[in-house]
Amino acid sequence: MIAQLHVSPTSFINDLRELHRQYLPLRQGKIYVSEPDLVEINPDWFGICVVTVDGQVYTVGDWEQPFLIQSISKVFAYGLALSDWGRDYVLSRVDVEPTGDAYNSLIKVEENSKRPYNPMVNTGAIAITNLIEGKGPAHRLNRLLDMYRRYVGHRVFVDTPTLVSEQTAGDRNWAIAYLLRNFGMISGGIKQTLDLYLQQCSVIINCHDLAVMGATLANNGVNPMTGEQAIHSPYVKDLLSVMFTCGMYDFAGEWVYKVGFPAKSGVGGGIIGVVPGVMGIAVFSPPLDKRGNSIRGIKVCEELSRRFGLHIFEQTASKNLDKPTHK
Ligand code: GLU
Repeated sequence: MIAQLHVSPTSFINDLRELHRQYLPLRQGKIYVSEPDLVEINPDWFGICVVTVDGQVYTVGDWEQPFLIQSISKVFAYGLALSDWGRDYVLSRVDVEPTGDAYNSLIKVEENSKRPYNPMVNTGAIAITNLIEGKGPAHRLNRLLDMYRRYVGHRVFVDTPTLVSEQTAGDRNWAIAYLLRNFGMISGGIKQTLDLYLQQCSVIINCHDLAVMGATLANNGVNPMTGEQAIHSPYVKDLLSVMFTCGMYDFAGEWVYKVGFPAKSGVGGGIIGVVPGVMGIAVFSPPLDKRGNSIRGIKVCEELSRRFGLHIFEQTASKNLDKPTHK
């Protein structure tokens, strides 16, 4: 039983299977590769995983297929920066305003403060990564990987070929980092910061890992599978707020309107969704729309939200899904 949704496990898994069947034939979109021929990515890979705050796991399709976390990392790096520096300082470096621009749009900072608009676009994310503490590059990377471990429940690793190719092809990110340093919004070596940013993006996970990460955020920062506190609870609402308003690239407004729970996507094809107090949702399918969001991922989340009344402004009564409404 998923108590908060009044739905039985059998009925819930059947819904997930139905959504998988329904959207597998949706063969549209473009696959992101940092370099042609680097890896074979099957456009039909399609996995869904839901993990509830009490540790129930629901999996469908290619949920075990490894993929790159990419921009989803921005949420978790933001959490680490908050833990290292506290809310006030981090807010003085990076604002929390949606931009309506593409994730890698060259540079857009606030006129007076020179702060990047939010931590979910590259300008803000690179400034956030620059804040991650450590005695040197290896120590900072280890802290980042250990942070992921707390959320996922096991160690994760950086995919080296991806990292190398993103480092080689990363002119836009270099440009962003130089401009940020020019504005005094990052300090120290550009290369060190960019390396760490690209390392955080090049971590390999699967749908199950991502759903556990989502469930950890849904569970006030405590990993429901291991019981470990992944992030200090008071920061969870900060992460969820920026996911809610800025998490889906320049689709964020429409996402809030139609789906209505905090989420973040990455060009690796993953989407993480968080239904606070209930569950983490992960969908993986590589073909992306022109904004960089997984096409099947959006469909699944829209449909889950509609069937189970997951929009956070939907009245609790409508979350009673003994009889899914299929409006
Ligand atoms: N590696 C990508 C970049 O920063 C991450 C992109 C993304 O997932 O949005 O350029």
